[in-house]
Amino acid sequence: MVTDVVVDRVMRRLARAIDGMELPAVEKIAETRQDDPFQVLISTLLSARTQDATTLAASTRLFSQARTPAAMATLTVRQIEELIYPVSFYRNKAVFVKQTCKVLVDRFGGRVPSTLEELVTLPGVGRKTATLVLILAFRSRRHICVDTHVHRIANRMGWVRTRQPSETEQALYQATKRKWWPVINLYLVTWGQNVCRPVYPRCNECAIVSDCRRVNVTHVGKKQDKPEGQT
Ligand code: SF4
Repeated sequence: MVTDVVVDRVMRRLARAIDGMELPAVEKIAETRQDDPFQVLISTLLSARTQDATTLAASTRLFSQARTPAAMATLTVRQIEELIYPVSFYRNKAVFVKQTCKVLVDRFGGRVPSTLEELVTLPGVGRKTATLVLILAFRSRRHICVDTHVHRIANRMGWVRTRQPSETEQALYQATKRKWWPVINLYLVTWGQNVCRPVYPRCNECAIVSDCRRVNVTHVGKKQDKPEGQT
């Protein structure tokens, strides 16, 4: 089990190291439109398995046509598909967007609900999306959002030993102090996109290598000319 001292040191180093790195797309949208949980929700739905730049462009196109659940519910699935293409699974996501908007209008008075239990009843919204919306749009300090980056890095560092992101979320509630919960996703997703990549992590340039157990890491990426993320 990781100690509080190590978690504190790693999180402080990551906070410094990610400063200046590109923010994940949904974080960017939340930063500029944090008073609009609807846009955070829809962007998060679009972001699954999609490059950040694609998510950002698709979200911008979609919101230029409809900014509220009521307005978006009037778009056809075909129109939504055309606006969000080429996000991954754009056909499925267009259906989910349309259905979610309709549910928001019919059951929630056109507003995004602010509880995990209600959010996961929306079409296409799983626990990962729901926790991210709660953290980014409702400033929740009681949730950790675990995606593939958080799951992978928490296991590599030796903070948890889990097979599924859902197990990782529960294990992280035990392994880390509450003050870190709202930023674990931001720090580890940014780190995962830039340094601790799925394949060939850049351990030689990693700011937290001295605290990382590097569990199951067998091949590392080549050192770049200009190190990124070093403190
Ligand atoms: S040392 Fe390597 S495995 Fe550990 S966090 Fe850094 S890049 Fe990832």
